[in-house]
Amino acid sequence: MLDQAKIDLLRNTPIASRGLLIDGQMSPSSSGESLEIVSPIDGQVLTTTASGTAEDTARAIASARRAFDDGRWRNMAPAARKKIMHKWADLIDAEALELAVLGVRDNGTEISMAIRGESGSAAGTIRYYAEAIDKLYGQIAPTAPEFLGLVHNEPIGVVGAIIPWNFPLMIGAWKLGPALAVGNSVVLKPSEMASLSLLRLAELALEAGIPEGVFNVVTGKGSVVGEAMSNSMDVDVIVFTGSGTTGRRLLEASARSNMKRCYLELGGKSANIVFADTKNLAEAAKVSAAGIFRNSGQVCVAGSRLLVEASVHDEFVELLGKEAAALRVGDPLDVNTTSGAINNGAQLNQNLSFVETAQNEGGTLYQGGNQLLADSGGFYMEPTIITDVQQQHTLAQQEVFGPVLAVTAFNDEAHAIELANSTDFGLAGGLWTADLSRAHKMIRAMRTGVVHVNTYGGPDVTVPMGGVKQSGNGHDKSLHAFDKFIDLKTAWIKL
Ligand code: NAD
Repeated sequence: MLDQAKIDLLRNTPIASRGLLIDGQMSPSSSGESLEIVSPIDGQVLTTTASGTAEDTARAIASARRAFDDGRWRNMAPAARKKIMHKWADLIDAEALELAVLGVRDNGTEISMAIRGESGSAAGTIRYYAEAIDKLYGQIAPTAPEFLGLVHNEPIGVVGAIIPWNFPLMIGAWKLGPALAVGNSVVLKPSEMASLSLLRLAELALEAGIPEGVFNVVTGKGSVVGEAMSNSMDVDVIVFTGSGTTGRRLLEASARSNMKRCYLELGGKSANIVFADTKNLAEAAKVSAAGIFRNSGQVCVAGSRLLVEASVHDEFVELLGKEAAALRVGDPLDVNTTSGAINNGAQLNQNLSFVETAQNEGGTLYQGGNQLLADSGGFYMEPTIITDVQQQHTLAQQEVFGPVLAVTAFNDEAHAIELANSTDFGLAGGLWTADLSRAHKMIRAMRTGVVHVNTYGGPDVTVPMGGVKQSGNGHDKSLHAFDKFIDLKTAWIKL
């Protein structure tokens, strides 16, 4: 149960200026410059963080390399690493509310979601990978008797992790958990729009006993710190979550530098498909509304395209409109808020311009479409539903990353599949039907990394998460995530 009084105390706690965390020490930027951290709650400056330079980034990478080469972490017995990571998860749990509130002040996610989706999820993810550490075995190959073929799992080296602003702790933990569990060193670059909770997470890692230099954090601009990481000759793998535009730059930088592996988790335009035979349309409307409007639509897997069978289109849109209107948009630190702030002013303006373009192209504004609570100084927007969206419209093709739902009617299964697969993205999707065979056929036909059936959202750490097409490559979560952080080494021995 969330304690509003405690949250209100925490929301007023001043936040000291934060530095870079390199080699276990907080330090200012080598340029002496810092970035103002603006809270999306009220538009006020919360604090400052160091604006890292290329030189700072190189220092962090060198620190991670030293830590890797001298084996202070990777050569620890797996059971010892496991113990430290469990302690880290315990420390996160012990500070769950403080961490969640800090993150919300920085990024605007409603606290009811942040407590589970941020601190809760981060602790659970670290614990999941801690548990796996001493259960990963190498292999003995089925060779002819005069040979012995061994397959070793080796950590790769220095991992560069670049994180977006929507769920910094959850997404950060998806990278950090498996990367650190198998003995790599990490340099993490948080989004300049949400770095405070990740800095605290790194301090807790040190407190838990992860050796200095193994996990470094460089705050600052993507165009400086991110570029320096992606161009480095000494980063072995980049794991990234963010926009396709940045993903492309990372691949280019890899090709120009040391051909480091790049694993990308990018955007989406996920189709949520409602068939007329759905058992409970009211329930489907409620879950679908949450699937696009929670965290103000700033969710990579958000069901941002509603495809609904023509015979129930009007009924379903009406139900959905009621659910959207019932959402409480506002102060993300109010425990009753169900949809918090837009992360920043530029994103809010971009959301509003998508609504304008949608109408210019022939979409119908069914509900919402406006900025809210402008007097607060913060960034808020009405849950917005646009109907009559055609496949070729901008709103059907481009990711908004805001609370804007595109609605399109379909005639039959084949039409639904055609519409669902008609974008460059392939991150997630959903379908609602009472017909088991149809559900399985649709799962096969939808070109996405995740398909939700008769629900939307919520897959836990036990299942992989990743996109196809231009939504990325590689997978976060589950034991499959280890593939990104392990090199296979063969030993071929003549007996
Ligand atoms: P973004 O690409 O602008 O920024 C992501 C990170 O990349 C930030 O840390 C940023 O500083 C850094 N960056 C920016 N320019 C860079 C450069 N030139 N080189 C290296 N790093 C650079 O994305 P965002 O606005 O923070 O996040 C929103 C996007 O992330 C959306 O497209 C959303 O769908 C996507 N996302 C995807 C997933 C997923 O799992 N697939 C999850 C969350 C968000």
